[in-house]
Amino acid sequence: MSTSCNDLPPCATLLERTRIVLVETSHPGNIGAAARALKTMGLRQLVLVRPRQFPAAEATARASGADDILAQAVVVDTLAQAVAECGIVIGTTARPRYLEWPVTPPREAAEWAAAQTGAAHLAIVFGREQTGLSNDELRFCQRAIRIPTAADFSSLNLAQAVQICAYEWRLAAPPEAAAAQLASEPLATGAELAGLIAHAKATMTRVGYLNPTRPQRLPDRLARLVGGGQLRHSEAQILRGFLSAIDEALADL
Ligand code: SAH
Repeated sequence: MSTSCNDLPPCATLLERTRIVLVETSHPGNIGAAARALKTMGLRQLVLVRPRQFPAAEATARASGADDILAQAVVVDTLAQAVAECGIVIGTTARPRYLEWPVTPPREAAEWAAAQTGAAHLAIVFGREQTGLSNDELRFCQRAIRIPTAADFSSLNLAQAVQICAYEWRLAAPPEAAAAQLASEPLATGAELAGLIAHAKATMTRVGYLNPTRPQRLPDRLARLVGGGQLRHSEAQILRGFLSAIDEALADL
């Protein structure tokens, strides 16, 4: 198996781009439960750094049907290998630690990650059941997540920590259907946008909304409104149709 996911489409969603990395997990049951956590939230990539025991019957039992995630899980020797292609690596820590980079609750981390569209691959790294992640391992990370807890009992079960982060990733990711539909709908071309702007100006002038001799900032703002919003072809068509309907109604007056 390889850790390479370079076959990701350019429009890959946050969930497709994110891998969950478990470092030196002791209990195979936690690996299975983590696989289940991934699958329920629509994540698919599980990377295991030196698991104590894997594959294991206990992992399969606790995966409760997320066998495909376990079957595709990638096993590597080092954290460096696990995150080799990742532009963003986010650690997790149960303890409040002094780190040079932001430590945030998972919700904030997920929203931040969703906004980093430049990074093709990103990883969330989880530590050992007994000792968590070492400082050296945390040095691979640009940020860390700490799930808020009661002050005197901050250590969640590993798979439950995975579940909470996966859930927040799901909330922060655009819905799959919406993302797929958007990706399949072409953007309006430059010519279509220019045609729409010209048409809008002409109709605005006809109804007296735009004074071509004293347009003020309306043309600039119109250009920004139409050109800056990633308008789809179908949406530009709707606006053109609407403008034409206004033109026809005016012609009938
Ligand atoms: N005694 C360890 C606890 C490890 S719990 C320590 O002090 O770090 C195992 C793993 O679950 C952690 O390494 C982390 O990845 C995750 N985890 C558990 N509780 C967490 C929390 N409150 N916030 C973020 N991650 C947590």
